[in-house]
Amino acid sequence: MTAKREKGRRPVITGSVIKRAAAFLLLAALVTACGCTQSGPLVREFFAMDTYMRFSVYGLTDASAAEGAADAVVRLSGLLDATDSRSEVYALNHGGGRPVPVSPETYGVIEGSLALSRELGDSFELTVRPLLTAWGFTKGEHRIPADAELAALIENVDDGRIGLDAERNTVTLPEGMQIDLGAVAKGYAADEAARILREGGAEAALLDLGSSTIFAFGTKPDGTRWRIAVKDPENADGVAGVIETDGGAVSTSGGYERYFTGPDGRVYWHIIDPRTGRPARTGILSVTVLTEDAATGDALSTALFVMGPQAAEEYYREAGGFEYIMLMEDGSVLLTPGAQGVFTLSGSRAGAEVRVVGSGADG
Ligand code: ADP
Ligand code: MG
Repeated sequence: MTAKREKGRRPVITGSVIKRAAAFLLLAALVTACGCTQSGPLVREFFAMDTYMRFSVYGLTDASAAEGAADAVVRLSGLLDATDSRSEVYALNHGGGRPVPVSPETYGVIEGSLALSRELGDSFELTVRPLLTAWGFTKGEHRIPADAELAALIENVDDGRIGLDAERNTVTLPEGMQIDLGAVAKGYAADEAARILREGGAEAALLDLGSSTIFAFGTKPDGTRWRIAVKDPENADGVAGVIETDGGAVSTSGGYERYFTGPDGRVYWHIIDPRTGRPARTGILSVTVLTEDAATGDALSTALFVMGPQAAEEYYREAGGFEYIMLMEDGSVLLTPGAQGVFTLSGSRAGAEVRVVGSGADG
């Protein structure tokens, strides 16, 4: 552009320049014609619950519902984070055995989580927190507790002893008991965010609360189904497969998210078997659960990981209402019939041995 032309000489325009200019004009025309810049999703990225979250929302005329949804997640995070001394769950955990008043939101999450806990049996306990602390997962100061220490702590792991008073909105934990909502908080946050977005007029959205909790609803403007990647637990950047779905929750639990290697060379992770007090070791690398609501999916993924493949399959046959994908340490993949229909293996696991489990279940 700035190069001076020699007087009297016309600029040389080659064929390739014309082609490139034409291509540019065509592209510009297409962008204008399809209005792609307007109909793309409104993207809101933020940090909450120790995780980078990303909401992609379609059909909003302004950003307020997306802001409201993100704000709700940040607010829930502040209420429910047991490690944050300003949170309501912290106050509850330090209530000295007395009833502690909490907000309606916190009360609702605890009440719902306790219902899930009853349903899921002894693989899932909100009162697992003292064990998480003993292993150093709450502060990141990892250690391997002695057998006697774990045995003593297990005495205080029992969700059945949590007291709820719906009239006063109080929760009572017996002395020595502490709860941790880490297994369900993101699920509740996803459901609440989806509710706010729908009420605010969103037609469709993909809510990614840090890849272990994903919720999708509605139909994208281009009509294609949602594609949700399942991470490869053995390769941080790898993908084990893709789920194609019309919507719902996709929740994943695995030992690869938070762990440490002990002086004995073994790996210890943050999902604890409440019966042994130790990280659950059942041959599962990760379990991904498909459900209608994210709170149930979040609790289920943690619980199925603790149950192990056999008990998980039995639970699936009995309870139903969900589907799952289990990536096993031996390289195999277990799929329920409903998951088989929507999940495709890819990348390093493309040729993995697949076994369909739980067929003939009522659910
Ligand atoms: P992520 O934190 O990666 O989303 P999960 O949903 O599986 O994974 O939640 C793991 C968290 O659940 C742990 O960090 C801990 O707070 C809590 N937790 C661990 N074991 C249990 C258990 N057996 N029952 C209930 N909660 C648990
Ligand atoms: Mg969970």
